[in-house]
Amino acid sequence: MKALVYQGPGKLAFVDKPNPLIKTATDAIVKITKTTICGTDLHILKGDVPTATDGRILGHEGVGVIEQVGGNVSNFSVGDRVLISCISSCGKCTNCKKGMYSHCENGGGWVLGNTIDGTQAEYVRVPFADNSLYPIPAGADEEALVMLSDILPTGFECGVLNGQVKPGDSVAIVGGGPIGLAALLTAQFYSPAEIIVVDVDDNRLEVAKRLGATKTINNSDGKAVEKMMALTGNKGVDVAIEAVGIPSSFDICQAIVAAGGHIANIGVHGKPVQLNLDKLWAHNITLTTRLVDTVTTPMLLRTVMSGKVQPKQLITHHFALKNIVQAYSTFGNAMRERALKVIVTND
Ligand SMILES: [Zn+2]
Ligand SMILES: [Zn+2]
Repeated sequence: MKALVYQGPGKLAFVDKPNPLIKTATDAIVKITKTTICGTDLHILKGDVPTATDGRILGHEGVGVIEQVGGNVSNFSVGDRVLISCISSCGKCTNCKKGMYSHCENGGGWVLGNTIDGTQAEYVRVPFADNSLYPIPAGADEEALVMLSDILPTGFECGVLNGQVKPGDSVAIVGGGPIGLAALLTAQFYSPAEIIVVDVDDNRLEVAKRLGATKTINNSDGKAVEKMMALTGNKGVDVAIEAVGIPSSFDICQAIVAAGGHIANIGVHGKPVQLNLDKLWAHNITLTTRLVDTVTTPMLLRTVMSGKVQPKQLITHHFALKNIVQAYSTFGNAMRERALKVIVTND
């Protein structure tokens, strides 16, 4: 089969690889129909993720059709159309029983396109298929569902749920990429009074306004904090969602959180960040971190099926699988290409 392979920092190739085989009775082999590229894949490409080694097929998002199932898979059969979760989980260990699938103790968690071969290929082996795949309802728009593999549950669980967004709250989302926009879409379940999105890209800020941001701040001048304080009568925001993963964006969140507020980190940080406890110790704040568990996927799937949330609005580009290297260069130059999510189709 053909697959997109990481070959060490800065190097990718679209090459021939052997088709995946069932290794464990709980595995399924899925023929990919649609996949996408994540900001996390770009982190791997930069060499930021040491667990992803040379030769790894990348990708942890996608939809497809079951090609083969192991003897212990009971929820799925050959021919079923499925959504692949970015998190694989046994569903049986102590952490899985707590709903913390991202820390599955039996070898699950974020493994696809990281420690095992991923979805940017014609076929993928999905471990713990019963708990890591979701049936696609009849009539679903499969491109929209690709947004449910990772970005929608990540924005919702790590940003909105951990940030405890409530009706009437003021919410700031620092970072208007796909994850920040997914937090923007799902924060609206709770009717916050204000959602202010911060980015340096006017195109992304325009998209944010279309998707429900009440205000936007372009931080190219580095003055996001002053502007945010001016917009909030110097109080700051009830919930500051960090959706970038660099020290300066976390610093904005620390500076703008109101007394009693929440900082919900989503970003993948590659460097330490200074926590300003000298200011925050008496500020009654809550700081949360999380790797997405994808426990909310069934609920999010229902909201997408009902049209309540329309993640398809995040799709800006389409490519055939054979052109996936070009898809990477488009997604890697997101600002110039005005790219949010790219859909890669395996015909
Ligand atoms: Zn992802
Ligand atoms: Zn587990």
